[in-house]
Amino acid sequence: MTDNGLFNFLVVGLLVTAPITFFYLMTRAAPYGRHAEGKKQIGLPTRVAWMLMESPSCLFFAWVFFHGSRWDAAAPIALFLLWQFHYAHRTFVYPLQMTVRPGDTTPLSIVGASLVFNMINSYLNGNAVSGLGRVYEASWLMDPRFILGGVLFIAGWLINKKADAMLRNLREPGETGYKIPRGWLYERISCPNYFGELVTWLGWAIASWSLAGLAFFLFTFANLGPRAIANHKWYREKFPDYPAGRKALVPFVW
Ligand code: NDP
Repeated sequence: MTDNGLFNFLVVGLLVTAPITFFYLMTRAAPYGRHAEGKKQIGLPTRVAWMLMESPSCLFFAWVFFHGSRWDAAAPIALFLLWQFHYAHRTFVYPLQMTVRPGDTTPLSIVGASLVFNMINSYLNGNAVSGLGRVYEASWLMDPRFILGGVLFIAGWLINKKADAMLRNLREPGETGYKIPRGWLYERISCPNYFGELVTWLGWAIASWSLAGLAFFLFTFANLGPRAIANHKWYREKFPDYPAGRKALVPFVW
């Protein structure tokens, strides 16, 4: 299969598997974190698991990008920096910041599935911006799609990071349970971290104006939409005083 053939096959594959993933995860929450409590699973220590499963999105993406025929131009490099702005943090900083409970592990099934997805996604998005996708002239940096997408990307990143930090600070040292998050976007939705993540990748899809970016955004929604619903339901069942007006993922809407 040629590079273009593989690229097209994988983009279509992601677009087709996104709705399947969505419906599957609506029936069965991925078994990690609160949805794995009490389940016996073989796993890796949580920090190691996160570094391992996110590393292709940082390292393999860079490898693919620099092997593209058009990487050495201003717009592809700007897109590369945007991507790495998120993924260098997610791979090497976020796992160290996590508050991990003694003995916490991430199941091998989650690590494996994430590794495969991140490899495919990095192959697609790396190629989309540096070789097999559209040709980005320097003028792309002034294009309203790049500017709007870049603004959404940064805004989503900031929302995601603040929301994750608020969750981290819920537990005092030594505490292991769950609490109701309060304040800021948590007054509107149960999962501002997922909302921020989705805004980030919507921004990427617009800034790169690529099918690979769109496929990644749709897949992220397929993954995080059902999880937000599962988390929201879980909060309502666990805490009788859970604020009734909160939505799951999108303020005022859903
Ligand atoms: P969660 O919100 O489930 O958990 C994040 C951390 O906060 C965990 O350490 C968790 O502890 C802790 N926590 C969550 N809620 C509470 C609470 N109510 N009380 C106390 N502690 C709490 O997020 P995920 O682990 O699913 O995701 C982490 C990051 O990864 C997010 O930024 C998310 O957007 C991103 N992500 C992106 C995906 C993508 O498709 N691009 C897919 C999945 C995640 P514990 O582990 O003990 O539950």
